[in-house]
Amino acid sequence: MWIKCSGGITESVFQLTSAVSTHFMILGDAIAMVDSGISASRERIAQELKTYLGDEASLDYILLTHAHFDHVGGIPYLRELYPDLEVLGSPLTAEILVDDDNVAALYEQNKVCAEAAKLDMGMDKEAWISSVRIDRIMGDGDAIDLGDDVEVKLIATPGHSEDCVAYFVQPDAALVCGEAAGWFGGRDKVCASFESSYKDFVDSLDRLSSLEIKALGFPHGGAITGEMVPKYLTSLRQEAEHFRGAVRERIAHGEIIEEIVTSLLPEWQAQNISPEGPFVSAQEASLAAMVRASAVNEEPAAEEESEVVEEAS
Ligand SMILES: [Zn+2]
Repeated sequence: MWIKCSGGITESVFQLTSAVSTHFMILGDAIAMVDSGISASRERIAQELKTYLGDEASLDYILLTHAHFDHVGGIPYLRELYPDLEVLGSPLTAEILVDDDNVAALYEQNKVCAEAAKLDMGMDKEAWISSVRIDRIMGDGDAIDLGDDVEVKLIATPGHSEDCVAYFVQPDAALVCGEAAGWFGGRDKVCASFESSYKDFVDSLDRLSSLEIKALGFPHGGAITGEMVPKYLTSLRQEAEHFRGAVRERIAHGEIIEEIVTSLLPEWQAQNISPEGPFVSAQEASLAAMVRASAVNEEPAAEEESEVVEEAS
C-alpha cells in the first residue's frame, strides 16, 4: 500500500506531510523525527506536530539522514520550539555541518525556497548557521533506545550522497530513508538518486534488500508497506542500472556529459514532485550529478563477485 497523507504507518511510526517533504515521527517514551524539511515549511510542521503530539509533548530528537538543504532547513526553528532537542547524525554529516561555509550554502538554498513562497527566514543568518549542527554522532549500526521497547538503528546507505544514512525502527521493521531508496511518484514512477556514486547506491540498495522491511518511508512521497517494499527495491535497482546503462551508451557514442544532461532534463523535471519553482536548479544539479556518476567505471559489489565467478569457470 502507498500512504501519502499524514497518519500512522506502523504502530510506532507516523508521517507528517508538508508541501515537498514527508516527515517521519518515531514514538517511544521519547519522540524522534527523521529530518526537518525546508525552512519555508516550519509553520506547517510546527502546526502538525502540535496536532499529532499535543501541546504538552516535546520533540526529543531529530535524526538526520544527510546534509542536503531540504533535510536540515527546519532545525533552527524546531530548536526554538523544543529547547532540549538533540540532533543526531552520522560522522560524515557532522563533518559537513561543522564547516560554516557549507551551512551558509544550505541557508542560501533555503532562502531561495522561502522567497518563492513569499516568506522570510524568520531568523538572522548567523543564528541559523550556528543552529544547524549535529549534537551527537551515531556510527553505522549504532542504535538509540526511545523507550517503550522502540529502538532505532542507523544504517549507512551512501550513494545519493556520501553521508546518506537510513534509520531502521524496531520492533516495527520500518525503514526511514534519505534518498537511499530514491523516490516514488506512484505507479511506475520509480526514480533512482545516485548523486555521489552509482556503485555505493546499488551496494546500499542490496544492503537494504537484505532486511525484512515492513514499511519504507521516503523523504519525499510518503511511505509504502507490505509486499510493495521488496518489489519496489527490485525495480529501483533495475531503474538505476537502466539509467546508468543508457548514459554510458551515449558516452560511448561520443556525447558529452552536458549534452546528455540537457537532453534528459525536460523529462526528468516533468517526473519530479515540483516541476516548477525554486527546486528546478537543485533538480538540474542532481540530474547532472547522476549523469557524471554514471560515467565512473566502478561496478557494484554483487556484480564484481559474479564477474570473478565467470572468469574462474
Ligand atoms: Zn538529498
